[in-house]
Amino acid sequence: MSAEQLPDDHYRPTYEEIHVQIGEAARRIKTEFDPDLMVAIGGGGFYPARVLRTFLKKPSALDASKMRNIPIQAIGLSLYEEVSGTSEGQIGNEVVRTQWLDAKTVSGHKGPGKIEEGKDAGGLLGKNVLIVDEVDDSRTTLQYAYSELLKDVKNAIANLSAEERQNLAPTRFAIFVVHNKEKEGGKRGTLPILPKDLPKGQDKIVEGLSEGVRYYSTQDIGDVWICYPWEEEDIIEHNRLAALAKKLGVNQAV
Ligand code: 5GP
Repeated sequence: MSAEQLPDDHYRPTYEEIHVQIGEAARRIKTEFDPDLMVAIGGGGFYPARVLRTFLKKPSALDASKMRNIPIQAIGLSLYEEVSGTSEGQIGNEVVRTQWLDAKTVSGHKGPGKIEEGKDAGGLLGKNVLIVDEVDDSRTTLQYAYSELLKDVKNAIANLSAEERQNLAPTRFAIFVVHNKEKEGGKRGTLPILPKDLPKGQDKIVEGLSEGVRYYSTQDIGDVWICYPWEEEDIIEHNRLAALAKKLGVNQAV
């Protein structure tokens, strides 16, 4: 293969491109959702979540002149099987949890007394929770992550006293992925995605939980394989191939 040839039809975004795109998406996410914390799906969601955090700082409750980073919680999920015609109930059998949140992390700080800012590692109850992954392909992983986190939050709300429940702010979820792949024939997984133009706070709240989920991606792309820079051992070669694809006008995201 000559230096002017590409080895395959994969799409190769660079670190810089992804960083800029995440920054642009963050502005929208901040205005429409303003997350209190992130749940990153590992390993692909870790790098995007870390970059996103740079753009999603919040003023400190103790000193509004200071900006605070929002917490990132991590879950580990692995999709181990591709089965066509899988029903919703079967999806749970295909996704393996390698790491999950414990009950205390879901509930956050409970009981009397004010917790010191920054020491609440980010309970989910009463918060705006942004689930982060690098790519939404068949949507199986995201459906699993969202529905299981929702279940955990519902259980935690059920364990509150009537008074605590009364005083609890709504819990809302949103999803961020760097790339959303458009699939011919649709996605396997499903999500109750809210309309893009729905104003902030206009979603329906039922028993302390939003009925829908806001959905963000930096790009909707065709069904191609994406090589992420953080997966490459040779980043110089990755960048060379990315520049070559651009020069040749092939393997681009549009
Ligand atoms: P799902 O099919 O559940 O939406 O995606 C499962 C996982 O497959 C993703 O989180 C991601 O790790 C991986 N995946 C799917 N498509 C791609 C791709 O084009 N490139 C890379 N690097 N990983 C992908």
